[in-house]
Amino acid sequence: EAKQAGRNCSRYFLASMNQSLDERLTLESELRQALNTGRLELHFQPKLALADRRMLGMEALLRWPHPTRGWVPPDRFIPVAEECGLINALDAWVLEAACRQLRDWQAEGLQGLNVSVNVSALRFVQDDVAAHVQQQLQRNGLQASQLTLEVTERLMLDESGRPREQLQALDAMGVRLSVDDFGTGYSSLSYLKRLPVSEVKLDKSFVHDLDTDPDDRALASAVISIGQALDLSVVAEGVETEAQRETLLRLGCQIGQGWLFGRPMDPAAMSAWLWQQQGATTARQA
Ligand code: C2E
Ligand code: MG
Ligand code: MG
Ligand code: MG
Repeated sequence: EAKQAGRNCSRYFLASMNQSLDERLTLESELRQALNTGRLELHFQPKLALADRRMLGMEALLRWPHPTRGWVPPDRFIPVAEECGLINALDAWVLEAACRQLRDWQAEGLQGLNVSVNVSALRFVQDDVAAHVQQQLQRNGLQASQLTLEVTERLMLDESGRPREQLQALDAMGVRLSVDDFGTGYSSLSYLKRLPVSEVKLDKSFVHDLDTDPDDRALASAVISIGQALDLSVVAEGVETEAQRETLLRLGCQIGQGWLFGRPMDPAAMSAWLWQQQGATTARQA
């Protein structure tokens, strides 16, 4: 299936116009090859309570170790995959790998785990995400509540039939929906009222200069207030410093991800981290 996906690419290009056509075609064929030969990896970054660093979940992030270019950043290859239609197969692989990993960790004895998976807005238009999610949950013996899908506001612009129906089907199943990079899109906020959103992620561009730029602080504060007013979880991305953690808490944000707490880790490192965390929790409860 992955092999057939996006075979005839390069029909039109929207993003990443800064890359030459040649470069993108090369990247595209190398990416397809990496997917088809099982050379992509999934890493995981913990999501924590800002107040006491309790682990609340983790985000799966796609990694492409390239034989000569090193690690190609997702911000570079995801737009290429979206342009050539490979994104559906790519995000399908990520969903399957994340669910399998969760099942394996549960089998090892780790409990109460949940994972957030990024899904391109395009996939909701082109593919049956809801059916695939249901199949993967079932196949791996997972509860729907263990899975969160992260989508950007771009999806909310498209309130036409298919994406909307899929979001409602996922909600009915019990899968959580999170709005990624919240505050950076151009969509009206009214979708928050109409669509089954349970979490917003404050974009890291607002967090970075939180303690030096009054404008960023004002924007972060506004975004957090919107989330609180609508009873959504608000997750800050890119928390790198203790000062940022404290400011976010003061502004009313309870949850965060970032290098301050943990970088994205490969499955073995994440497993060790989870065991350590579970030990700490058990000790706290005892
Ligand atoms: P995102 O979903 O907003 O993910 C957060 C990004 O912030 C990740 O970049 C993560 O590594 C990075 N990050 C985490 N903590 C910190 C921090 O403290 N400081 C800074 N400066 N950065 C931090 P990454 O992994 O390079 O991914 C970039 C974007 O690529 C993601 O943004 C997401 O939009 C996309 N992406 C990643 N994996 C997938 C995937 O499986 N499917 C799709 N469709 N998109 C993906
Ligand atoms: Mg994300
Ligand atoms: Mg984000
Ligand atoms: Mg981002």
